[in-house]
Amino acid sequence: MATERTFSILKPDATRRNLTGAVNAVIEEAGLRIVGQRRIRMSQTQAEKFYEVHKERPFFGELVSFMTSGPVVVQVLEGENAVAKYREVMGATNPAQAAEGTIRKKFAESVGENTVHGSDSADNAKIEIAQFFQDSDIVG
Ligand code: ADP
Ligand code: MG
Repeated sequence: MATERTFSILKPDATRRNLTGAVNAVIEEAGLRIVGQRRIRMSQTQAEKFYEVHKERPFFGELVSFMTSGPVVVQVLEGENAVAKYREVMGATNPAQAAEGTIRKKFAESVGENTVHGSDSADNAKIEIAQFFQDSDIVG
């Protein structure tokens, strides 16, 4: 299988609790390589664009306000089957349903403040990476 890239965000609940390193350790232990990483403050416009697919959902406003409430760490992860692998490592959206050993089971506080984002397809990974990274800032 070919090496693939996915897009990850360590959300504001992770940076607020100083969990950047702890989450990265789980990512690296799973065999995913962090080939791009930057700590940013997401603007309202960026968050609305990023989560556009959810704009009709009742939690959209809450989600945008949470994602802009503190710093986030945007990342590009690389590895075999990286998109599906990272979804597995993250665990279910709702931490109450997340499997043992997953990032959300270990760290997430609620279905909204759930510590990490990961792309749900290879096509979306490309779009999401392009929103936050230039090619020259990804070093594989
Ligand atoms: P995932 O992040 O697992 O791909 P979704 O794409 O369904 O999940 O939702 C995007 C994000 O929106 C979630 O990670 C979470 O932060 C937030 N979210 C999803 N469902 C809810 C909900 N019922 N209430 C509040 N926030 C939610
Ligand atoms: Mg999603």
